[in-house]
Amino acid sequence: MGYVVAVVVGLVLSQVATLITTVYLHRVLSHKSIRLHPAVTVFMRFATWMLTSISPREWVAVHRKHHNFSDVEGDPHSPHIEGYWQIMIGNVYYYRREANNDNTLEKYASDLPFDRLDTLLLRRGTLGFSLTGVILVLLMGIGPGLVALATLAVVYLLLNAAINGAGHTFGYKSFENDATNLKLLALITFGEGLHNNHHARPASAKLAAFKGEIDPAWPVIRLLEKLKLAEVLTKVDEGWEDHRRRIPHTRVSPLGATTVKE
Ligand SMILES: [Zn+2]
Ligand SMILES: [Zn+2]
Repeated sequence: MGYVVAVVVGLVLSQVATLITTVYLHRVLSHKSIRLHPAVTVFMRFATWMLTSISPREWVAVHRKHHNFSDVEGDPHSPHIEGYWQIMIGNVYYYRREANNDNTLEKYASDLPFDRLDTLLLRRGTLGFSLTGVILVLLMGIGPGLVALATLAVVYLLLNAAINGAGHTFGYKSFENDATNLKLLALITFGEGLHNNHHARPASAKLAAFKGEIDPAWPVIRLLEKLKLAEVLTKVDEGWEDHRRRIPHTRVSPLGATTVKE
């Protein structure tokens, strides 16, 4: 029973980490489509440190470079260049390869210099994630605690790999870019699976564009806004028509053939 609970705890934490990634690292920092209350920012910084061990400056730089070179030479993690399974399995390797490039950080994240809190603590990502492990072990015992931690790590990494790999390979396209929309993936990645929409309009704080698409992070963002803890800075519902679908509803099959559905 303890191990079942441990897996559930790991799954819940991986969802919290994914929510923080899409709201804070992606929509707030990378694309500046939302502004957060300073207290929420501090919470997000510590939660990012403890649940993902990611350096926001590195994540933002790699992600912005991905937008700049989507699926052409220079893209840090393109399944079309590196191969689908290479990204699905080795996403962390491709991420680290780019994150270790000082030129990339300087060029793409100069607006996010390390501050004193980063220097003293948050740059030590392994420490944050280890602290989460210690807390889980103290609360659940050594075996279940480590299982919860491993579940968090594996599921979080797989979801991120799926966005970069499957989200540029399978699914339907509403807009003319190399990314794809996967509604099911969007449900378990707080909207990130609507990746074709995102590449069409990176500045939109909401990733769902058309009827039937669900961005589960959006109600959370709206709630934060109602509580005066966040402010959406870009248009969300209007604006998609400016990027009017230039291609009809298409679906990319696993074999790579594109079929027109409507
Ligand atoms: Zn992408
Ligand atoms: Zn983006």
